[in-house]
Amino acid sequence: MTQPLKHCARCGKAKPLPDFNKDASRADGLRGTCKPCRSIADKAWRLANPEHMLRKSAAQYFTRDKGLKNKDIPPGLVEVKVMLNKVTQLITDIKKGQNES
Ligand SMILES: [Zn+2]
Repeated sequence: MTQPLKHCARCGKAKPLPDFNKDASRADGLRGTCKPCRSIADKAWRLANPEHMLRKSAAQYFTRDKGLKNKDIPPGLVEVKVMLNKVTQLITDIKKGQNES
């Protein structure tokens, strides 16, 4: 018995269906790209969009770490946290530089 295969839209390889994430909006219920290709594309996107990732990380500080709901976070607070995180990172980088020299 042969298991059903699907061609990845990115790498073009025929792969077993479990190699594709689910996507209810598509006719076959699966994403067009395989999991490894998706992972590479997602990582590339994160590297290309550092500001988005900083904002996401800051928002998670309030939702995940502090237990707030998105609607309860005052406007502008996430942006303040992004700035604080940047300052903290800058101080860490400066200290690291002082230790190396
Ligand atoms: Zn692929």
